[in-house]
This record gives sequence, C-alpha cells and structure tokens, in this order.
Amino acid sequence: MALIVHKYGGTSMGSPERIRNVAARVAKWHKAGHQMVVVPSAMAGETNRLIALAKEIDADPDSRELDMIAATGEQVSVGLLAMALKNCGVPAVSYAGWQVPVRTDNAFGKARIMSIEAGRVLDDLAAGRVVIITGFQGIDPGGNVTTLGRGGSDTSAVAVAAALQADECLIFTDVDGVYTTDPRIVPEARRMKKITFEEMLEMASLGSKVLQIRSVEFAGKYKVKTRVLSSLTPPDIDLAQEAVSGTLITFEEDETMEKAVISGIAFNRDEAKITVMRVPDRPGIAYLILGSIAEANIDVDMIIQNQSVDGLTDFSFTVHRNEYQKALAVLEAKVRDQVGGGDIVGDTKICKISAVGIGMRSHVGIASLMFRTLADEGINIQMISTSEIKISVVIEDKYMELAVRALHKGFGLEQQPGHVNDGEAV
Ligand code: ADP
Ligand code: ASP
Ligand code: MG
Repeated sequence: MALIVHKYGGTSMGSPERIRNVAARVAKWHKAGHQMVVVPSAMAGETNRLIALAKEIDADPDSRELDMIAATGEQVSVGLLAMALKNCGVPAVSYAGWQVPVRTDNAFGKARIMSIEAGRVLDDLAAGRVVIITGFQGIDPGGNVTTLGRGGSDTSAVAVAAALQADECLIFTDVDGVYTTDPRIVPEARRMKKITFEEMLEMASLGSKVLQIRSVEFAGKYKVKTRVLSSLTPPDIDLAQEAVSGTLITFEEDETMEKAVISGIAFNRDEAKITVMRVPDRPGIAYLILGSIAEANIDVDMIIQNQSVDGLTDFSFTVHRNEYQKALAVLEAKVRDQVGGGDIVGDTKICKISAVGIGMRSHVGIASLMFRTLADEGINIQMISTSEIKISVVIEDKYMELAVRALHKGFGLEQQPGHVNDGEAV
C-alpha cells in the first residue's frame, strides 16, 4: 500500500463525463489498496471565464477580490469529484485550500505555498477516505483566499505530496507525458520516458506549460517522485501498466544521459520587452531601473545593455505581459526623472525560444547551430541569454512556430530517441 497523489488538469475535469472517468480511475487506485489524495483543477475554460467576468465589472480588478473569484472554479471541481467517487462506492471528502489549510504568502495572483498541514488529511486517509483538495488556491496569514498563478494546481499537487510524504505524485493531463517540445506546435515531437529534474526545471521556467515551474521546484526540494501521464486513456486501463507510463522526472543523471545534447525546445509568449533609451552609462543605472521594478514586486527575466555611444546606452529587459503596463508606469513615475534618458518604449510582440539540455555542458557549438538555424529562416534575434544547460533568444512573435519547428528539426529531435536515457524510441 502506498500514499499516492493524483492531479487532474482542466481538460481532464472538463465535463461531467470526464469527471466520472477521473472518479473511476481514482477508484481503481483506491481499490488496489492505495491511500489516495486527488488535486483537481477547475473545469477547462472556467478560470478564464471567471477572470473575464471579473474584468467586466472592473477592467483592472482588485487582486484580492480577483483571487476570491478565480479560486471558485476549483471548489466546484472538488465537490463534483467527491460526489462522483461516492457514486462509485468510494468514501471521499472534499476540501478547499483554507480547510486543510494550505498556507501561502499574501501575493495575490502569484502566492507561494509556505506550509500545508497534514493532520486532517492523514486522519481521513487512515479512515479509508479519498481526500480531494482544491488545486491553485490557499489562504494567507490574514485569512484571505489566494491563488498560485495560472497552472498552479500542479504546484498544489506536488506540495501536498511533499507535505504528506507521498510515495508518488502523478500529474494526469491531456498529453501522455513530457515531449521534446509542445506536440501541438510540432506534431513530430516525441515523448521522453524520463527527464532530469534540472531539464524539467528549465523547460518549465522557459515556458513549457505542461508543468508549472513551482511544482518542479517543490519536486526537487522535497524529492517528490513525480510523473506526467495521460488522463485520456480508458480509466480501467491496467494499473501496473499505467503506473509506469508517461514521463518520470528523475533526480539522478545516468551515464547515458550526457549523450543527449539537447532534450527539448521551449517557448514562451507571455513576456514583453521594455527599453529605456539613451540612459547615461554610469554605475548605479541598472540598480535604479531594476531596483524600482523589483520594489513593485515585478519579476524581470532577460536583461540586455548595449555598448555605450557618447556615454549613453539603451537598457532593455523583459517582464511578464500581465505586469507590462505596471512596469511602464513604475518607470515613468520613479525612474525617468532620476536617470534622465530618452523614450521608454515597450514591445509586446515578442516571444522567447529556448533550447534545453544537460549535454550542453560537455558540447560546444550548440549556440552557433541555434543561431545558424534561425538565420537560415531569416529570423532576427533581439536578445540572447545562456546558462549552463540552456540558450534562450527573444524574437518577433510572428516567427514563433517557424522557429520552434526549425530548431526541433535542426537539433535532430525528431530522428533520435527523445532522450537517450529512454533506451528506446517511444
Ligand atoms: P492541464 O490542464 O492538465 O494542467 P496544461 O494545458 O496546463 O494541462 O498542460 C498540458 C499541455 O502542455 C499540453 O496539452 C501541451 O500542449 C502543452 N505542452 C507544452 N510544452 C509541452 C511539452 N514539452 N510536452 C508536453 N506538453 C507540452
Ligand atoms: N485553474 C487554474 C488555471 O486555469 C489552475 C490550473 O489549471 O492549474 O490556471
Ligand atoms: Mg496545467
């Protein structure tokens, strides 16, 4: 008997029929003798609908109230799933985040989980009940409902698994694992049987929405055995077969892994670029600009400063598109007078494309292959950033799909096994 956490995404919970399928799958695991905790998302489209509704009342909604509204989608899901399980003859109980409680900080819309109390859940499990906990939400120290950012149910599930010291966290979704790139963009993309934690962290942070980045961070910090797999198979599929399907995140590299130079291509359309033009090239300027952005609790991703001409330079950085207007306003209000400088210009028509692979550590020429592939397609690179296991470029967003396909092909991801650690092509 093991303690297992299942997470089901929006598509997997998308209709009464699908919810019944989820219940049947969970019932199968429960009947096999496992203690089961389930973390569902809101039904597909529901969170978008709730946010749009809020914006009909106020175009710039109060962040506390917006979380109050957005969190309700998951509350509906847990109730429906508990009823569906009871209909299958399985005792089940649903909880909202505050009832567990899942404690977070008070950063509405992007709250971080601080702790999860296991006691109540463990009591239910000991009594033989399946426990169903809302994804995406928690409660802050002031007792306010918070949400964890889009895609946050992944993080809820892995954090619950960590808090309960679960044996495994299974992330059920509408694809059957983690692919070399998004299979919706590149149909030739191939599933990996395993991916290293480091690569998954980079893929997620660079835009592969199959897992929210913080869920991968939790998996790494607490060594939660995490697997991504399909919820669209028949629910009565053989359990032993299901338990080893999909993609496992591994914490150790084996000796074959270094042969995989590039494991995947990630992309992100959620960023916007801001340039402060013709600022003086002197100590303290980066601090002045980015310090004020940080004070406003806005995350900065890529940063670039050009060579100065006549002591003046252009300073560019990217932020999430949701925070783009806020960042522009901060610069206008706090930075312009102090730095001097020329126009502050923004560009939302950008995207970031990244190649990820631990093999980059031991191989040269990856960056030049990437740049050549993009040049061959006539795609201009606006910004570049690298780390030990990734190269990212910012390009005009209309070239995104073309760039992803060209790079996927250019790095040979279609032909080779998706990951040499697979041992075999999937
Ligand atoms: P859920 O609602 O189950 O959380 P998401 O839509 O958040 O599902 O994540 C699954 C989607 O992630 C897939 O449908 C796929 O289009 C997308 N995706 C992006 N990159 C990848 C990748 N490298 N491998 C698999 N899926 C990916
Ligand atoms: N329902 C939330 C969202 O749509 C959380 C999730 O699906 O993971 O972002
Ligand atoms: Mg998701």
